[in-house]
Amino acid sequence: MSSKLRILVPVKRVIDFAIKPRINKAQTGVETKGVKFSINPFCDIALEESVRIKEADKDKVENIHVVSVGPAKAQDVLRTALAKGADNSTLIDVGDEEVEPLTVAKLLQKVVEKDKSNLVILGKQAIDDDANQTGQMLAGLLNWPQATNASKIEIDGETVTVTREIDGGADTLRAKLPLVITTDLRLNEPRYASLPNIMKAKKKPLDKLKPSDLNIDLVKRLETLKVVEPPVREAGIKVETVDELVAKLKDLNAI
Ligand code: AMP
Repeated sequence: MSSKLRILVPVKRVIDFAIKPRINKAQTGVETKGVKFSINPFCDIALEESVRIKEADKDKVENIHVVSVGPAKAQDVLRTALAKGADNSTLIDVGDEEVEPLTVAKLLQKVVEKDKSNLVILGKQAIDDDANQTGQMLAGLLNWPQATNASKIEIDGETVTVTREIDGGADTLRAKLPLVITTDLRLNEPRYASLPNIMKAKKKPLDKLKPSDLNIDLVKRLETLKVVEPPVREAGIKVETVDELVAKLKDLNAI
């Protein structure tokens, strides 16, 4: 296999991270009407890393392809990704269907095979479903090695070294391409798209596919029963002295 990188970056359109989500009236999910959507922050980090790898050595990277599985509106996040440095993009249009991580992974597997990608960089999780599954399932389907929660990525020919954030430390792994990597928060700080690049991105390719074009059915294995807000916290009491605090704790049988 040529050591030139053909990078696939799956990006999900999610409710903007700065917005406080509200549960809808039917308690089936989060209210999406009139809410700002953006690229999932961990996917933005995955894209940033891919663009930095290319900027560091143009000859090393043949292509950066961003793919989103979502509604027609997900074209917005693809255009933003193109403006930030992706070469081409694909929308896999699923309308308003919620697609489970296994199905997303199956769709991505088909794209990897079509593209002959040798590196997939995903976010470690989508901030809407918090599933943290897609990268791992994709690696399983492809039978590729995977390095999750990356905080540093170094590529030397076909050898990739990934530092992972783990509880209380760092774990360094080495693997040969092809490889699946998922990104953690501290890998990099994504750039903003500049206006000239936003204009230029309008001319970059944006293809549209349906799941049936990839021979994948949108099968649902999970049913959401109910989504509720966390219980409201009861108001606390202020104490003036440590003695008073100890007395209160004793009253509550806490000590
Ligand atoms: P999740 O497993 O849902 O937490 O998502 C982890 C990562 O998988 C995301 O950061 C994306 O890189 C990718 N991913 C998940 N869902 C989608 C989607 N609908 N479209 C594109 N990429 C996705």
